[in-house]
Amino acid sequence: MSSNNNVLLEVKGLRKAFPLTGGGLLRRTVGYIRAVDDVSFNVARGETLGVVGESGCGKTTLGRCLVRIYEPSGGEVYLNLGDRTLAVHDLKKEDNRVFRRNVQMIFQDPYSSLDQHMNMLALVGEPLMVNKIAHGKEMEERVTEIITKVGLRYEHLRRFPHSFSGGQRQRISIARCLVVNPQLIIADEPVSALDVSIQAQILNLLKDLQQDFGLSYIFVSHNMSVIRYVSDRILVMYAGKLVEIAPKQELLSTPNHPYTEALLMAVPKVGRRAGTRVVTAGEPPDLLALPTGCVFNPRCPYAQDVCREEVPTLRQVDGGRFVSCHLAENLHLRGV
Ligand code: SF4
Repeated sequence: MSSNNNVLLEVKGLRKAFPLTGGGLLRRTVGYIRAVDDVSFNVARGETLGVVGESGCGKTTLGRCLVRIYEPSGGEVYLNLGDRTLAVHDLKKEDNRVFRRNVQMIFQDPYSSLDQHMNMLALVGEPLMVNKIAHGKEMEERVTEIITKVGLRYEHLRRFPHSFSGGQRQRISIARCLVVNPQLIIADEPVSALDVSIQAQILNLLKDLQQDFGLSYIFVSHNMSVIRYVSDRILVMYAGKLVEIAPKQELLSTPNHPYTEALLMAVPKVGRRAGTRVVTAGEPPDLLALPTGCVFNPRCPYAQDVCREEVPTLRQVDGGRFVSCHLAENLHLRGV
């Protein structure tokens, strides 16, 4: 673990491979899908790290490994709680509750992530009881305090999820996370299932709560506009790999990886000259049959022979900027 006490989470060489089984009775493993492949990064206290990439790039799997919904296949994850550090990749049974209190996840779909048979009091109070933090009157007081902070009303405490709008349900999900006073929240596409008019409200709420509670976020989204709005730094994933990570402004104005450039150019923008909007040709690669060399080379307009022959490694190019591209220093990519 880094000796820098401002680092809350340290991820080193994280991997997640899903076995692929063949047909027949024995259903033998015939291969592996490497959904997350050797990903390393840190998250600072109070920081929002945006994780962006196309569908299937591994960003959701990464988030799920970090909250241990999925057991990672390899790598190390450390959570620095100030007075002690948890080795999340090798979590001891007695530390499980401490970990769950400090790392929470907001899911994409507020319709399916809430139990329809529990009212708001039970839904938001459940983490307090499971973690043996509060019950009875004390629990209700804590729930009331939290739901008010996320913009819900005390009068609705005994209502069930079906009577709330999508935005209100996502506020309940946020309250469930906040009620145990976590240090890190992993938000997996938290606004993509909501109406556009509600999305900005939820994003602003998350920003306000970050200030009030001193939270760190890992914010996962396929939507570069959302990532631009919420992030302090941005991590770009492609085919399970981290291809670029940088502070937001630097990444937006001078991307170092052609895939980052393509994501930025694909964002609709009022006033962009006709013909300058670039959507990368081709499909994301089949994770079972990745191209040789750089995984992005079949879609990269700048690819050269070296790109088809050698796998680029993630390297530091400037200050806090890291990129995985052979030609990064020679390309002058377009930012926004
Ligand atoms: Fe494109 Fe080559 Fe860089 Fe890969 S290494 S992103 S193919 S220029």
